[in-house]
Amino acid sequence: MDVSKAGIPVPLPNTKVPVHRILGRNPGPMTGPGTNSYLIGDQQLSLLDPGPRDDAQFDNFIAAIAGRKLSYILITHTHGDHSPGALRLQEATGAELVGLAAPEFGSHDQTFKPSKLWSDGDVIQTDEYSVRLIHTPGHVSNHFCFLIEQDQLLFTGDHILQGTTSVILPPDGDMTHYLDSLGQLEKMPLRFLAPGHGEVMADPGKEIRQLVAHRLKRESKVIGGLKELGRCTLDELVLVVYDDVGKHLIPWAKKTLTAHLIKLERDGAVRSENEHWQAL
Ligand SMILES: [Zn+2]
Repeated sequence: MDVSKAGIPVPLPNTKVPVHRILGRNPGPMTGPGTNSYLIGDQQLSLLDPGPRDDAQFDNFIAAIAGRKLSYILITHTHGDHSPGALRLQEATGAELVGLAAPEFGSHDQTFKPSKLWSDGDVIQTDEYSVRLIHTPGHVSNHFCFLIEQDQLLFTGDHILQGTTSVILPPDGDMTHYLDSLGQLEKMPLRFLAPGHGEVMADPGKEIRQLVAHRLKRESKVIGGLKELGRCTLDELVLVVYDDVGKHLIPWAKKTLTAHLIKLERDGAVRSENEHWQAL
């Protein structure tokens, strides 16, 4: 992977509000090319998802800010590849922290302390642009997408990724919430999706519909797998349902499979007993 571009601000094309993507120095199997941080605005800046704690990347942010005012640090969620860099940046700039604090379950960045309890629909207003907060639970419960209203540009964090699909991490992550959140976004007149990992996507409606279709196809594969195997364990089922992913991804596939099964149990389609699953 090309890490040479990491840390250098690259402008997004065709936006009224200036937005620069700054790629993180953390490429990997779960982060793709690395975490995308985004610097928004001209003089009143916001920085979205500073990524992991990384002194060199901190210096890159300070260089990109170039003496201007950093008003807000926006956090999509508190996974280690998105929020831990906020602490030092906030101390250095005095920017206000926007996002939701870490949930109790899962491995989250507990150092992130938002300035207040932010809610779905809150709007951050500067002289240059406005950013609307959209609560999109699913990948994790404290996930926000952020909308630049002037451009209908949506920062999607790990809710919608480019080049890969999000892992749903129960019990905090929830497949029902994930699909509901996607349904909510599908109704919005969006022009661009700027993900936490991967490239900007120019046809949001198509991307979202494909993602929903992908999840529903996987869900029908879960039902098909249970019918084929009969009463079975998660370890048995995952190999049938995720026969198209590499072995190294199976531990992650098990988490998302669990999320599918919890949803299907809630829907009355499957039942669990003594760590075995079966279709109804
Ligand atoms: Zn995440």
